[in-house]
Amino acid sequence: MNKFFTLVGEYLYDFSTLIYPNLCICCNKSLVKQEKMICTRCAIGLPRTYYHLNNENPVSQLFWGRVNIEKATSFFFFQKGSKYQKLLHHLKYKGEREVGVVLGSMFGADLNAINFQGNIDYIVPVPLHRRKQRQRGYNQSEAIAEGMSKTLDIKVISNNLYRKHYSATQTRKGRFERWENVNELFAQKTPELFANKHILLVDDVVTTGSTLEACARAILESENAKVSIATLAFAVI
Ligand SMILES: [Zn+2]
Repeated sequence: MNKFFTLVGEYLYDFSTLIYPNLCICCNKSLVKQEKMICTRCAIGLPRTYYHLNNENPVSQLFWGRVNIEKATSFFFFQKGSKYQKLLHHLKYKGEREVGVVLGSMFGADLNAINFQGNIDYIVPVPLHRRKQRQRGYNQSEAIAEGMSKTLDIKVISNNLYRKHYSATQTRKGRFERWENVNELFAQKTPELFANKHILLVDDVVTTGSTLEACARAILESENAKVSIATLAFAVI
């Protein structure tokens, strides 16, 4: 009987892919059953940084002299015009939350292979302002965190760290004012929750690191807290 349902299920699957073919986001080729969002060929070709294998890497160096970070890494290089740019575009602007979950779970598997997570207690996604999250329908960093949580087996806490101000007007302000603004952007609802905990802060992309720095500062307000950082992409400027 079970076999019967499996066959029916497979038939329905094949039938639905005839009507709505699942295509690879990067190369537009049809996906086979085991593939999700991205085909095997593109997944293998993803320009991984392998920074998790070296603690003194360009992502961790971004934070030197700014804020105390235990470890930092990114999954892949983000280059404008590359076919992999589409991944972040779909995640951020096309409403495809699942892209974040799939890539986050791939990222987590790479990190898990060398036990990068070590003594990390919680995964915390960089929060969006409530208004922005309502507009987009979801927080893309939370989707990535959810995927990473699956392969790293670490709990996600997304309701403690929050964004205080809406930052849409930031670009109109001066440089100093903007820096001050970003530093006062985040706070915790219950700082006791992160006391004596090692937090893995997760975001979609890192460029200057100022948002992550501000988040880390807010987490380090908790007594004896530690922060590590993992982003999906590292922007090559
Ligand atoms: Zn592909």
